[in-house]
Amino acid sequence: MKVTFLKKWLIASEESTGFEIKKGVGMGYSCNANCECGFNQDGITVGAGMIGFERQSQFPHYCENCGVVEPNVQEQEIACPSCKSKTIIAYGNEMVSKQNELHDSIQWGKYKMPCNGNLCPKCKRLSLQFKIAKLFD
Ligand SMILES: [Zn+2]
Ligand SMILES: [Zn+2]
Repeated sequence: MKVTFLKKWLIASEESTGFEIKKGVGMGYSCNANCECGFNQDGITVGAGMIGFERQSQFPHYCENCGVVEPNVQEQEIACPSCKSKTIIAYGNEMVSKQNELHDSIQWGKYKMPCNGNLCPKCKRLSLQFKIAKLFD
């Protein structure tokens, strides 16, 4: 449903602004995060959200208070959407992700996080996995 909506939006924006959407380029992903400790979070958006990627695109960050959050990385100051903390850390950063796992990664723009070896908000070990569930394209 989300994907269909986004497609409609893209078609509309293409017509109204003349913006060129390259075919075959993914606009974003929906990811799942899970950990062997039982932590599970679905529907994490990477890339374009519902509003459109030039104004809003999201990438998973670690927030000490809230866990895995999806701030808008197009903002001047990236902050946690829930608690407004500005000390959140993008997954892929060495503080929250294993750097030797980056061969298998999920990328959006300058952001790149490994699929395996990320900081779990529940058990605080580097055992959180991200998996792409759906492509928005
Ligand atoms: Zn927070
Ligand atoms: Zn865990």
